[in-house]
Amino acid sequence: MRSIEIVEVGPRDGLQNEPKIFKASDKMALIANLVNAGARRIEVASFVNPARVPQMADAEEVLAALPDGEAVYIGLVLNRRGADRALATKVHELGAVCVATDTFAMRNQGQTSADSIDIACDIVAAARAAGRRAQITIGAAFGCPFEGEVSPDRVVAMARQAAASGAVEVALADTIGVAVPADVAALVARVRAEIAPLPVRVHLHNTRNTGLANVWAAVEAGATTIDASLGGLGGCPFAPGAAGNVPTEDVVYLLERSGVKTGLDLDALIGAAGWFTGVMGHPLPGMVSKAGRFPSAQQRILEKVGQV
Ligand code: ZN
Repeated sequence: MRSIEIVEVGPRDGLQNEPKIFKASDKMALIANLVNAGARRIEVASFVNPARVPQMADAEEVLAALPDGEAVYIGLVLNRRGADRALATKVHELGAVCVATDTFAMRNQGQTSADSIDIACDIVAAARAAGRRAQITIGAAFGCPFEGEVSPDRVVAMARQAAASGAVEVALADTIGVAVPADVAALVARVRAEIAPLPVRVHLHNTRNTGLANVWAAVEAGATTIDASLGGLGGCPFAPGAAGNVPTEDVVYLLERSGVKTGLDLDALIGAAGWFTGVMGHPLPGMVSKAGRFPSAQQRILEKVGQV
């Protein structure tokens, strides 16, 4: 049976984009719930300027308090200073981010696009020198909120450079949620052909309601890993109008019902989404947690009885 890996990004991409500042203890409880639901690779923090992103100011505190041996913890970094902070913690994996256009790269991280990929490669080198793994995400790979269309040739060239850095994986991010399945299928296929055998991950936002369709297009095109956030938490404060990530439990429902294993427990995810909705104090975008799974627990019991 085919399987797809899911990286849970709720504790970072999700919470970073909420106006509310969560206590480290809420983050720890969220991560514990995700681990309980089977998450084994989790983006837990970003090591960025706390004046710009106050939601992530407690990155070191969160890392220090996380239990060992439960999951691979990822820390997002945008520059060498962030990498040094991350490497001073027990984080297992650094997630470096470069951006496909100059205007967005400047707004997001004060770098040109070309500088952003050079710096991402330096971050990978620093992680490897410290005995950690690192991967590179190409932001705005399908479209830019400031410059509009993004050339796939540019993204492929960046992916080639990223792959040569020693990164364990290259991710294509639809940061502002403009991609449609045809875009995702085409770019994943091109990047895969360029960097094989290195795996391709996708990071999709559901801003225009194409998120789940894009997940399926990515899976069909050979992406190995999908970023998702519990309940569809998230957005991007530096990308106007960007909505949350694709909801983890909706992705798991889609994939498992299609015969693709994820290693995640849908009932536990639905329970965690319900609990976290209470913590947030407002409904989350995910739909499966509201509609419930199919077949329901009751229907599954009846099915089993019928089979006896
Ligand atoms: Zn994102």
